[in-house]
Amino acid sequence: MSRFTLRIVIALAALSIVGITATQLYWVRKAFDLKENQFNTDVNQALENVATQIFEVNKMATPANGLVTQESSNYFTVLVNGPIDSNLLGFLLKNEFDKKNITADYQYGIYNCSEQCMVGGNYISPTKNKIPASISELPSLKLDGYYFGVRFPQIEANLVSQMGIWGFSTIVMVVVIFFFVYTLFVILKQRRLSEVQKDFINNMTHEFKTPLSTISISTSVLKDPSIVQHPERLLNYATIIETESSRLKQQVERVLQMARLEKNDVGLKKENADLHQLIQEAVKNISMSLNSKQAAIELKLKATNSVALVDRLHFTNVIYNLLDNAIKYTESSPSIIITTNNQAGQFLISVHDNGIGISSENQRKIFHRFYRVPTGNLHDVKGFGLGLNYVKLIVEAHKGKIAVTSEVGKGSTFTISIPN
Ligand code: ADP
Repeated sequence: MSRFTLRIVIALAALSIVGITATQLYWVRKAFDLKENQFNTDVNQALENVATQIFEVNKMATPANGLVTQESSNYFTVLVNGPIDSNLLGFLLKNEFDKKNITADYQYGIYNCSEQCMVGGNYISPTKNKIPASISELPSLKLDGYYFGVRFPQIEANLVSQMGIWGFSTIVMVVVIFFFVYTLFVILKQRRLSEVQKDFINNMTHEFKTPLSTISISTSVLKDPSIVQHPERLLNYATIIETESSRLKQQVERVLQMARLEKNDVGLKKENADLHQLIQEAVKNISMSLNSKQAAIELKLKATNSVALVDRLHFTNVIYNLLDNAIKYTESSPSIIITTNNQAGQFLISVHDNGIGISSENQRKIFHRFYRVPTGNLHDVKGFGLGLNYVKLIVEAHKGKIAVTSEVGKGSTFTISIPN
């Protein structure tokens, strides 16, 4: 998938997520409004029936309209022209609300307007038996005559609880959006991975091809019968084959090492070892493999306690890799300082170089597998982008940490801390 196509796919995906969410919100709101309207109509009708029955009990003519007023979203008042018995009102309300299937809790209060106070009332919960101990005062309105008020204190919660199917469809939508976004992330991650792996294969092909072609040229020279007459040339070509094949072996070993680590098969053989001694071993190994480049490696081994539980081989490899990088990524005359210290139960080793440095953006990425800082010409300095990933895995397998500080053009310092 090209970069442009991917951008379009992401933009369309974002647009569709926003669209779906907005549509869902719109319909949920609409459904809620519909439910609320239906509820208000039902309550109005039920209260009108109650008022009619009260007028009949009081043997008065029922006014044609204007009996029920909705004062707020959950409060209704009903005008009646005479005193009302609280029990009778309770019975009539229950009867009418049952008929309309109104299940919300309600509180009613009867007012005598000449005295401006509530003269009776009750709190009814059709679905629960538990009723609050005290009934709160209903808002009194300065009306003439007798009236009663009915309030539904939890009407919003009641209406929401009746919107089960909408709640379900919203949950389903959220789950679908989650998977959608997750899939997009997986696509992006896979794409980045495939790019990195493509780079790795290019690198590897190049790294393997060079020694192989040198070996092949050398063997064709050795096949020439006249070479026997020139023993020094014979030795020269044999040495070339030996160096190149050992280089190849090293490359293969690195790739295999990573493959093993990937399977979490580090297989550490931890033992108490003197880390200063391991550092010196790594320095000796690297000094032997230095060919043309001359590197000055200074040791400032200041730690008083240098013994820790480590895997000797892997730990020496870690130091070797850091030194190898310090030399590889320094353009001329590398000057490397290895410092050790003890700090808060930790053994600290820092490898400082005066090399090309690493930008802060790349400092976060260099520990990723296959990652190499883009230099324009990738094959300038050889490598697979595996070394620092290996270092990090091994350090973490020792319950340690690795950090880097660096400035482009000035140099880098890698610091490892492991408990000891
Ligand atoms: P490799 O050296 O095989 O490319 P590494 O994992 O060892 O892979 O390093 C990853 C990248 O980090 C390197 O490609 C290089 O760009 C950068 N890097 C590592 N060590 C240093 C260093 N001491 N100075 C500058 N850049 C470094």
